[in-house]
Amino acid sequence: MPTDPVLVVHGGAWAIPDDMVEAHLKGVRNAAAAAWQTMQRGGSALDAVEEAVVVMEDDETFDAGRGSFLNRDGRVQLDALIMDGATLRAGGVGCVERIANPVRAARKILSDSPHVYFVGEGAERFAAEHGVQLCRNEDLVIPREIERLREFQARTATSDDDLFAPAISHDTVGALALDRNGNIAAATSTGGTLNKAPGRLGDSSLIGCGCYADNQSAAASTTGWGEPIMKLVLAKWAADRVLAGNLPQWAAAEAINYLKDRVNGHGGMIVLDSKGRFGIAHNTPRMAWALRTAAEERWAIELT
Ligand code: ASP
Repeated sequence: MPTDPVLVVHGGAWAIPDDMVEAHLKGVRNAAAAAWQTMQRGGSALDAVEEAVVVMEDDETFDAGRGSFLNRDGRVQLDALIMDGATLRAGGVGCVERIANPVRAARKILSDSPHVYFVGEGAERFAAEHGVQLCRNEDLVIPREIERLREFQARTATSDDDLFAPAISHDTVGALALDRNGNIAAATSTGGTLNKAPGRLGDSSLIGCGCYADNQSAAASTTGWGEPIMKLVLAKWAADRVLAGNLPQWAAAEAINYLKDRVNGHGGMIVLDSKGRFGIAHNTPRMAWALRTAAEERWAIELT
């Protein structure tokens, strides 16, 4: 029996300043609209999450693709993961420097490789060999981020007190979809944390940490301070709660409580199960997200 499609996207969870609210809302709405169209044209959940993430990678508002935060050396290093809940096939890339849409490379790994995860130059070579165009790292760097890094490095030269404050941007993007065939999928893409050490990999592209999808439990995408999220394998933690019979909204809220209570982390999460039930939770002041179903279109940035 055909299922009614559902689409949920997020564009980061942090203290998004008032003057950036509109851009975030517009970005998540555009991503949801593009992915919804993909499903309307017969695309799968996997196609939809890829398209949603590409739209946000191309939008300089977010910490994904061009316009991402810079690492300590002033370079963009990107991580992304895509996962198919029907088959558990997954594709991930880490620390790529010459791919504007790392989720496209991740999708190629999922579909064309027996492997699951590629990093650095090997990932770029795989992507190029499979039709993903490479760019120069400079093409991904924008003046706003050069200034942000300069200001951050000047401020933290004397103190590292605020290195991981919730006010520090967490603009990672993610998408979850349920398609007509009842399959769910998830994708997450990020430039990681500002001023990160070269080679540092966060939670976003790691299976079960920043992203997860299994038709039998749920799809989840997280954003926030990556190290605590990784330690708890948080996306899988939430999916397991859904498998145990809990609603996605409960699982998302409990996961964020667990993140705070266990490791003093902060961030946000979206969760979707194969019945179309979804959840959104964050312990940051704001989180940008959008939802699309046949019956409604919703987007928000405040506490949910
Ligand atoms: N979770 C990401 C990371 O730590 C950052 C973010 O969500 O913005 O790499």
